[in-house]
Amino acid sequence: MDQPNARTAEIITILAQTYPKAGCELNFSNPYQLLIATILSAQCTDIKVNAVTKSLFADYPSAQEIIKLSQTELENIIRPLGLFHNKARNILSTSQILLDRYQGEVPSDMASLVSLPGVGRKTANVILSNAFNFPALAVDTHVFRVSRRLDLTRGKTPHQVELDLTAQIPRDLWSKTHHLLIWHGRRICKAQKPACPSCPLLDLCPSAQ
Ligand code: SF4
Repeated sequence: MDQPNARTAEIITILAQTYPKAGCELNFSNPYQLLIATILSAQCTDIKVNAVTKSLFADYPSAQEIIKLSQTELENIIRPLGLFHNKARNILSTSQILLDRYQGEVPSDMASLVSLPGVGRKTANVILSNAFNFPALAVDTHVFRVSRRLDLTRGKTPHQVELDLTAQIPRDLWSKTHHLLIWHGRRICKAQKPACPSCPLLDLCPSAQ
């Protein structure tokens, strides 16, 4: 796909004008830290994740360091983020696998990424686009909701939504579109009570209230 259709292109253009600084809101210094931050972001805000990772990454910046923590020690650090038991277990397991198989580095291909504990297709796409600058369009809860409300897709699963969006949007806009839809979902097209009257996409949206 070299050019999106006119309506999709207009939506992307308006969102880009509305959110000129749209980008990843998780703080990280390397692919490993983005991987850990993304695992921690499940059912949690990026603001809360950043508050915890600021000290976590200062003390334990790499897989070699984090693996020195016990499950209980890591749970106590990440407890404010919820789901701390599973997140700690996945982080420690993933870190050990990275050390055993990838010299402590994060692999840069989808198959290897989704084989890691706690890493699904969405997280893998976040890593591929934000850490490695590969074309990828991660579908999180905001991308899923906003793109369906805008009738950019009628997909019923995140993977189907990803396929629909990537089929109509040029590859060089996949990552940008991901961020734009997330920013719009967090700021205006919220899950509960979307602010339709103040939405810049009001005239283009079949779900406007
Ligand atoms: S008009 Fe309402 S439902 Fe449509 S994109 Fe804007 S906020 Fe979301």
